Amino acid sequence: MKPRVAVHKFASCDGCQLAFLNAGEALLQLSELVEITHFAEAGPLDPDGQVDVAFVEGSITTSEDAERIKRVRDNSRFLITIGACATAGGLQALRNTADAGDWIASVYASPEYISSLPTSTSIAQHVKVDLELWGCPVNGRQVLAAVRALLFGVPPVVENDKVCMECKRRQTVCVMVAQGVPCMGPVTRTGCGAICPHFGRECYACYGPAETINDVSLGRWFEGLGLAPDAIVRRFRFINNDAPAFRDAAERIAQSQRPGSPGSAGH
Ligand code: SF4
Ligand code: SF4
Repeated sequence: MKPRVAVHKFASCDGCQLAFLNAGEALLQLSELVEITHFAEAGPLDPDGQVDVAFVEGSITTSEDAERIKRVRDNSRFLITIGACATAGGLQALRNTADAGDWIASVYASPEYISSLPTSTSIAQHVKVDLELWGCPVNGRQVLAAVRALLFGVPPVVENDKVCMECKRRQTVCVMVAQGVPCMGPVTRTGCGAICPHFGRECYACYGPAETINDVSLGRWFEGLGLAPDAIVRRFRFINNDAPAFRDAAERIAQSQRPGSPGSAGH
């Protein structure tokens, strides 16, 4: 019997599922090796079936989703999160730092019809996750490599290098040094192939934090490039704002600018 694979969606833009679909020929080859039992974007529907591998896109933002993810976990041998939303709460986790009720009231004419949690949280904050694939969106190569590794019973490769390392491997000229743009590559994990610097623009950290980041040093670099402190904070509070390393970095930088702190104006 072929291994069974499902792709589930929670609060997300569907971009990671599209990355899966865009894998093209590789996806066709994969579909010969596995049975895709649930993938609403592509057709098959069986949300409560038992599977060997469940891919999960999106964050948890409603009480219904908080229950549904438990059923997905119970029905899956391996659970893999795909993308920034599922792995770190996504851009929508910015609500975690604000009053979500106020925001809803300022956007919707009838806020009483909106039923959502005050936070957007990663899948790992609700159930055990076997592998996290970062990116906004993930790329099809990562997803297919993870499936292949699990099918052959070997641990999937976890990409923890920084984007800078990938630039060096590709012999891409450093955009921060050559153009003076504030690139997040020194604190961002690779996996994308350093695609933005390769095309001459700065990285904005869509693959989330790399291991052991030096955010203090990068913050000083950004200051030297002329960024105001709140602009530096916003660099960390972006797509992966609720990833602990970025959340802590943003808080540290914001804290250092509060009146009376050693880094603030007037000291
Ligand atoms: S990680 Fe990015 S591309 Fe993927 S679902 Fe979330 S917002 Fe969309
Ligand atoms: S270079 Fe940075 S922003 Fe661009 S795709 Fe890679 S991680 Fe994302």
